[in-house]
Amino acid sequence: MLPEPVLERAREEMMSVGGIGMSVMEISHRSAQFDKILHGAEQGIRDLLEIPTNYRVLFLQGGASTQFAMVPMTFLPEASSADYVVAGYWGKKALAEANREGMTRVIWSGEESGFSRIPTADELSFSAEASYVHYTSNETIDGIEFKYDLDAGGIPVVCDACSNILSKPIDIEKYALIYAGAQKNIGPSGVTVVIIRDDMLAKVPSGLHPLFDYRALAENDSMVNTPNTWGIYLIGLVCDWLKGEGGVKGIQVKNEEKAKLLYDAIDSSDGFYRGRAERSARSTMNVTFNLPSAELEQLFAEQAAKQGMDGLAGHRTSGGIRASIYNAFPVKGVQELVGFMQEFSSQNS
Ligand code: PLP
Repeated sequence: MLPEPVLERAREEMMSVGGIGMSVMEISHRSAQFDKILHGAEQGIRDLLEIPTNYRVLFLQGGASTQFAMVPMTFLPEASSADYVVAGYWGKKALAEANREGMTRVIWSGEESGFSRIPTADELSFSAEASYVHYTSNETIDGIEFKYDLDAGGIPVVCDACSNILSKPIDIEKYALIYAGAQKNIGPSGVTVVIIRDDMLAKVPSGLHPLFDYRALAENDSMVNTPNTWGIYLIGLVCDWLKGEGGVKGIQVKNEEKAKLLYDAIDSSDGFYRGRAERSARSTMNVTFNLPSAELEQLFAEQAAKQGMDGLAGHRTSGGIRASIYNAFPVKGVQELVGFMQEFSSQNS
């Protein structure tokens, strides 16, 4: 979901952004007007995450999946190795792409336990010579989330934060590079936000194709070629909205309240609903659970859709039910889902 006030403002400004008589989709990305929009969006993200000046914020294309490749293409030179924490579906995807490029070491995998838990900090031991360590801070499909910023000593930490960025405060200085497709908490699909520390930019080899060159992208304000102007504009609006919600601290309180409502409904269902994640790993963004049978899960998703609650069927690879309750999802929507869950369990148990 995008926040309703954002959609309304976009509608109001559709024909004339900033009073110039043209839509943001019609102005040149080299115009002063778009420059203001781009830097406004960047400042919005900087303010919300309190990003220090030695980090750059980039607005790229190709989705987070492109970052799965671009990170090792850039930072995994021959004869070096990178550490990967594979906590779930997306961590495994990122690893597969890195394996095409060079050597990796899986320092922790949750696959055997069905991607249902998150390692504790002391379960992780890093390779002293690793070029970087990569992890996924929230596993969208499995519904598990790191509750801490991973600290790898002096090894650069690269984080796929697609599905929980801007949902709570994070300690940016623990990270060398964070990437996130915008489509969950930042804005629409088609823009990938990359937050990268200056010392990482200095390590980028020369001679790369500019569109795959973080340094060139940073030097050109993400505009080596035409950026996704509409997406970047909406990111600026989402940042304004989030500031009005009390920033990441304010939205964290709401997110925890929403998640608690759902997890309480699961835990008080006498086993009719079974949460997929271990309690300590439960995601605040994606609540995953099972019903007594696959047939009941299908019926649940179908009946919920008829009541206007769409998209509850779990990912095609894992089945079950998944309620994604990103920043813009209202508490009222969660309350309605909880009501539906109670009704469904009493009718079907
Ligand atoms: N990483 C995570 C954690 C995701 O949730 C997703 C998409 O849902 C991706 C990566 C892939 O993102 P994209 O579709 O932007 O490539």
